[in-house]
Amino acid sequence: MEDCIFCKIITGEIPSVSVYEDDDVKAFLDISQTTVGHTLLIPKKHVTNIFDYDAALSSKVLVKIPVIARAIKKSNPKILGLNIVNNNGELAYQSVFHSHFHLIPRYTESDSFS
Ligand code: ADP
Repeated sequence: MEDCIFCKIITGEIPSVSVYEDDDVKAFLDISQTTVGHTLLIPKKHVTNIFDYDAALSSKVLVKIPVIARAIKKSNPKILGLNIVNNNGELAYQSVFHSHFHLIPRYTESDSFS
């Protein structure tokens, strides 16, 4: 979709640090790292948010959340937990209107988190 930052990340028009990619999804580091390793998982199909997911898209995208979560945890023994955040709609603090799931590793109880 024209003028969508995340569509441009998928095509490579905007650079990203890739974590995982297959035919249906891409995962890459968030440009603003809440904690080290903060990753975004997005569908390659442009959909605005969770309200646009049908069963077919859900089965392609949502099943990847635990796959990426485990890969992030395995990448660093210091990771003790992980938050999964998904904002849907402006009122719910969504700022990029291409559906995405934040995977935010947690290292200590005092990790900053906003
Ligand atoms: P919020 O900005 O409130 O976290 P979202 O849930 O819509 O709202 O998150 C959008 C995320 O996209 C932000 O964490 C932001 O840092 C990230 N982001 C924006 N542009 C880029 C980019 N070019 N590369 C990687 N991440 C990006």
